[in-house]
Amino acid sequence: MQPFTYEKATDQAAAARAVAAEKTAKYLAGGTTLVDLMKLYVETPTKLVDIKRLPMAEIRREADGSISIGAGVTNSAVAYHELVQKEYAVLSQAILAGASTQIRNVATVGGNLLQRTRCPYFRDGISNCNKRTPGSGCDMATGFNRTAAVLGTSDRCVATYPGDMAIALLSLDAVVHVATDQATRKIAIDDFFLLPGNTPEKETSLSHGEIITAVSLPRIDGGTKQGYVKVRDRASYEFALASAAAVLWMDGGTITQARISLGGVASKPWRAKETEAMLAGKKPDSALFREAAAASLKAATPMKYNAFKPELATRAIERVLTELTQAA
Ligand SMILES: Cc1cc2nc3c(=O)[nH]c(=O)nc-3n(C[C@H](O)[C@H](O)[C@H](O)COP(=O)(O)OP(=O)(O)OC[C@H]3O[C@@H](n4cnc5c(N)ncnc54)[C@H](O)[C@@H]3O)c2cc1C
Repeated sequence: MQPFTYEKATDQAAAARAVAAEKTAKYLAGGTTLVDLMKLYVETPTKLVDIKRLPMAEIRREADGSISIGAGVTNSAVAYHELVQKEYAVLSQAILAGASTQIRNVATVGGNLLQRTRCPYFRDGISNCNKRTPGSGCDMATGFNRTAAVLGTSDRCVATYPGDMAIALLSLDAVVHVATDQATRKIAIDDFFLLPGNTPEKETSLSHGEIITAVSLPRIDGGTKQGYVKVRDRASYEFALASAAAVLWMDGGTITQARISLGGVASKPWRAKETEAMLAGKKPDSALFREAAAASLKAATPMKYNAFKPELATRAIERVLTELTQAA
């Protein structure tokens, strides 16, 4: 591991100043992914600013009915929180489908959003990887690309966004709250994550030094059915090959609105807009589910080893829709 300095932040503005002041400084939250990447020399920060003790660990209802989840809340605390389980079940399910109990007890919301791809060519520290070393090439594109993305890729990068939590947050239209020592701003979750394009090293719309302070979930009006289906090589402690989050509004057996998002198959958390449009105003039906799910994978660009992914993602959508609409 490359040597680095370490400091504990005492307040949010001081933390933001400390990271902004040094181009290669980073925040340290639970450390469950950053420290791994430092050991692999994939991340080489020269300064870590520990934000674990900042007052960002609260989940609360806001006056407008939305829920604010502090960036420092652990994944477990989010997943088991009464409000989240009752009103945002898809988020609870997605988090509990990820990592392990031990990791979830330490991992935070902010760190989870910013986890980096599990692409083996990125993590091995030696292969050509435009995300790790801009301009070096993409060995995954011509290599063993079984886990690579099929949506949103570019000729510079075919890596998949690996997380589960963000997929559920996308289906809930979450908003990411960020701050510097001077100002705050809000970013819609879909705009928070960037497509790789020509700059795959730039994964989010955060500027250096900006700290994520919270994620808010808009109020959900009316009863919804929510679910998360994750397909992976083994039943636990594994990243998604394909996953689907769904939030459905129903009225007398008709789907009035659907929000569907996909994980494991795209460069960033992916909204299945074509599926959503085809479901609105329709009654649940297996042929419709199949057709609507497939529509969101039409633009997929599979490679040699991941040609199974469009079908897998289609089936993940079909399954979550079937489970939700068959449930009493
Ligand atoms: C073996 C293993 C299996 C896993 N399986 C899954 C899985 O199946 N699904 C899944 O979704 N995840 C999985 N994960 C990833 C895990 O969820 C992340 O490691 C965790 O959520 C990261 O949170 P953290 O607080 O530890 O982040 P850290 O490691 O502390 O930080 C990660 C990054 O976020 C930045 N950061 C942290 N907080 C902030 C903030 N408030 N503002 C700005 N920047 C910030 C850091 O600077 C760093 O760049 C797995 C991890 C491991 C090690």
